[in-house]
Amino acid sequence: MTRDLLQNKAGGQTIRAALAYGRSRLAGSGSRSSVLDARVLLGHVTGLTREELIVEEGRELSQAEWQRFDALVERRLAHEPVAYLVGEKEFFGLSFKVTSDTLIPRPDTETLIEVALGFCRELTHPPRILDLGTGSGAILLALLHACPEASGVGIDRSALALDVARQNARDLGLTERAHFVQGNWAAGLDGPFDVIVTNPPYINTADMTDLMPDVVRFEPAGALDGGPDGLDPLRLIAPDAVRLLSSPGLFCAEIGLGQAQAAKAVLKQEGFQAVKCVPDLNNIPRCVTAEPPISGKMEA
Ligand code: GLN
Repeated sequence: MTRDLLQNKAGGQTIRAALAYGRSRLAGSGSRSSVLDARVLLGHVTGLTREELIVEEGRELSQAEWQRFDALVERRLAHEPVAYLVGEKEFFGLSFKVTSDTLIPRPDTETLIEVALGFCRELTHPPRILDLGTGSGAILLALLHACPEASGVGIDRSALALDVARQNARDLGLTERAHFVQGNWAAGLDGPFDVIVTNPPYINTADMTDLMPDVVRFEPAGALDGGPDGLDPLRLIAPDAVRLLSSPGLFCAEIGLGQAQAAKAVLKQEGFQAVKCVPDLNNIPRCVTAEPPISGKMEA
């Protein structure tokens, strides 16, 4: 094995051999996505698409390509997420830049996008959207991309995350409609907004250590840890969301497993109406939605 490795490190290996090597090293460490990971990493290093990797499997890698691939396999073995290794992640059919300053967008969050988009499409005027804790900007930008009339603001406390979000807006041609602002949730912000979306940190502090090493060692803890019951950020956001939401308007927040009842109670207590939970594709309540309080108009 050592001799093989040394030989491999010298380059001159075919794409086929490199994929077999990456796959077996990653599988040996217990990864369940070793085939896909090896393919994505080699595609990143060579600039070849998935199809080209198959068609050109006999092509030899240069020494530099081999060394870069081997180094990425090594980092993946230490649990670094593939999205950080290649610097991007697909979400809602779009490619987003990600760094260790931003959470990696997850398919779970597409539930929130679908719900918010449904509401945006019912409005008869161009929607104004607010995304709290925007990170890579994935939620706001996916909504603006799907809804060409809409404009919006993404807030994050991390200047480094905002750099990534602004880069994503440029890459998607959305800079005129997406504004990114550093802030402490919505404190001091002026509205109103038709739609307020958020994927706040919602993991219970006690559960943080049980997360997969890929998540806990590499993703920003500040984007995951939601305090003792995971709902502290929602409690902080709710009063400003009530203040900033238009009528009609929709507030949508992603929540974690088992948080539906408590999250709904937080929003009802703040005066929101029509507080509901929407399940994801696995039938787990994933998104809590709420409408603004009925205004002060009283019937005679
Ligand atoms: N869904 C993420 C996870 O389970 C958590 C995202 C969040 O806290 N907003 O890793």
